[in-house]
Amino acid sequence: MTAAVAGFNLKRKTVTEHGGIVMEKDQIVEKKKEDSFGAAERRVRESVERLQLPSVVYEFLKKPQRFMEASIPVQMDHGGVELFSGYRAQHNNVLGPFKGGIRFHPGVTAASVKALSLLMTLKCALIGVPFGGGKGGVACNSLEMSAAEKERVSRGYIRAFVDLIGPEIDIPAPDLFTDARVMGWMVDEYCALTGRYTPGVLTGKPVEVGGSVGRKEATSRGCVYVAREAAKICGITLKDATVVVQGCGNVGGQAAQFFSELGCKVISVCDISGGLYRAEGIAIPDLLDHVKETGLIEGFAGGEKIAGEELLTMDCDILVPAAMENQLTAANAPEIKARLIVEAANGPTTPEAEQILSERGIFLVPDVLANSGGVTVSYFEWVQNNQGLYWDLETVNQRLEKMMVEAFHTVYRFGRERSAGGTLREAAYGYAVQRLAEAMRLRGWY
Ligand code: GLU
Repeated sequence: MTAAVAGFNLKRKTVTEHGGIVMEKDQIVEKKKEDSFGAAERRVRESVERLQLPSVVYEFLKKPQRFMEASIPVQMDHGGVELFSGYRAQHNNVLGPFKGGIRFHPGVTAASVKALSLLMTLKCALIGVPFGGGKGGVACNSLEMSAAEKERVSRGYIRAFVDLIGPEIDIPAPDLFTDARVMGWMVDEYCALTGRYTPGVLTGKPVEVGGSVGRKEATSRGCVYVAREAAKICGITLKDATVVVQGCGNVGGQAAQFFSELGCKVISVCDISGGLYRAEGIAIPDLLDHVKETGLIEGFAGGEKIAGEELLTMDCDILVPAAMENQLTAANAPEIKARLIVEAANGPTTPEAEQILSERGIFLVPDVLANSGGVTVSYFEWVQNNQGLYWDLETVNQRLEKMMVEAFHTVYRFGRERSAGGTLREAAYGYAVQRLAEAMRLRGWY
């Protein structure tokens, strides 16, 4: 029995004591607000139910197959040693080796890494790369670390998990606050520890050490390809369409660049230093030069300075959250004016916000589809590493475009046929879960 009491659930719990005496106890359990990550697990359950799949499919997907936690000792520049918590979640490998990024961020927790690993399983199934899902992270404030400290964290992470990763086992990649430089140190540590040149152990490496051309921009490029397809459905003409991008890191900055190349007007962008606005469209190449030099948007003269919060509710055609999770919330969703939202970040929309946006008829391309360009070119990188044969940029981009466009339309069609009236996220989850369920059945997992 459950009664809602202003933010709390009052539960009457039936407890069977050892002597078989049944007692009833009142228990007050704090009602936790479901965030975008918690919602992912619920959506998988709902997809399993809607598609009438055996419930064991949900049991397989609700938590990682394996989860590891390590204490990573790091010699700091001040001379002392600090211990950082590192995690690796190997969520599901029915479709191929576990695959997913490693983030260096103070907000990294066991729960967030597990939730993000589920998103990777869905993303890989959806886009059609032969990988399962995984995720890793180190709880650390990498922005305040020197390059030498960051290198020691990177090498420490590989030492902690060396026996559990590999090109046919689990293949890490960059994520929040990790980049090609970090992958360079990590692949070096792995090769040194195993005594073998194994570039395919991780992806997102510098091109000079086995990375793929086009991998750095792949998430943004893929995101713009699906935005273009979604814009057609929404009746938005890209020429002169107004675009707002939250985040100006690797993903947000490049996405702004590709939108402006398509003729859109990127009227606002932001990062941790605040926002920038220019009604006629910001000169993105100049802004990116400035960010490359100084690390921040702050100080760029080609626009009016605004508060970061103003950006999400600004009048525009396309909104691209490309920063952190849980940015579009019940508080700002009623004010959002965009007609199309493309989730370049993982989990930027809370379930409450999504409900509001969907009721308001705003078309949303979910993260698992919108940002899958990164892992798609990671797959190309792994293929090139395995073959020892490298492709040119045109080949990479053409193959990426084909996979993104096909995945978008497949999911859109699946939604219309199988979950009429549902959101594109429901369709994406449904399609991915169905593929995973079929592979599990054929491999005899149930
Ligand atoms: N971290 C990226 C993501 O969340 C890329 C993962 C990969 O390339 O393996 O999709």
